Amino acid sequence: MADDTPEDYQVQINRYAQKMDQSTSIDEVRHLLESALRQSEQDLANVRAELERVRRLIHADPMTGALNRRGLSTAFSRESARADRHGATLCLAMIDLDDFKEVNDIYGHQAGDNVLLHLVNLAHETLRPSDVIARYGGEEFVILLPSTGLEPGAATIRRLQNNLAKSPYQHHGQPVLITFSAGVAVRKQNETEVQLIERADESMYRAKNALKNCVMTAPL
Ligand code: GH3
Ligand code: MG
Ligand code: MG
Repeated sequence: MADDTPEDYQVQINRYAQKMDQSTSIDEVRHLLESALRQSEQDLANVRAELERVRRLIHADPMTGALNRRGLSTAFSRESARADRHGATLCLAMIDLDDFKEVNDIYGHQAGDNVLLHLVNLAHETLRPSDVIARYGGEEFVILLPSTGLEPGAATIRRLQNNLAKSPYQHHGQPVLITFSAGVAVRKQNETEVQLIERADESMYRAKNALKNCVMTAPL
């Protein structure tokens, strides 16, 4: 069992060993060995499930369920290696909500938190299961789009903007109209996570300084 201590495990093994000592037939020994094996397999499955649960916990942002920065770095390593193997593109979008301070001021901080969760849920609905959604900072998100070029990546992020406009978060029955600015960049050969994020971030700032609520692309 997952919460068994090593001592319990030792006790179990001793019990099997003792029974085998006392066995009088080869059939009985085989039966005991099979039981011990089944028990070990079950123990191993429980440990694996527990490790997977802990792995998810340390990679997730508790408020939104998106990946946190650690989760993003893990996903970036995996996806950039995959892109290199297949000669595929890897697109990254940096998203920053527009005038989010006002949302907190008008509707309260709790509503602001709910808006962030709403955006993440909407992103999961809008994007592909293979796309990666991470909370980069307070109201900043990074989206990784595997096998996606610059223009298709920008179009995908615009689709998310449209969906957010069509399905805004409802605060006591009132729609909270929020928008975001985004910068999109495609990974260059050997480009690191930090370098790619920096280019997407620069483009996001160009979107902020333009009209907000728009998507800008970084030159290839
Ligand atoms: P801009 O359009 O320039 O991005 O304006 P902004 O108001 O969004 O400004 P900025 O990005 O500098 O500030 C982000 C604000 O988001 C500040 C903070 O109050 C709010 N914020 C950050 N994290 C959270 C959070 O977890 N929950 C809530 N409710 N608000 C947050
Ligand atoms: Mg910000
Ligand atoms: Mg902002």
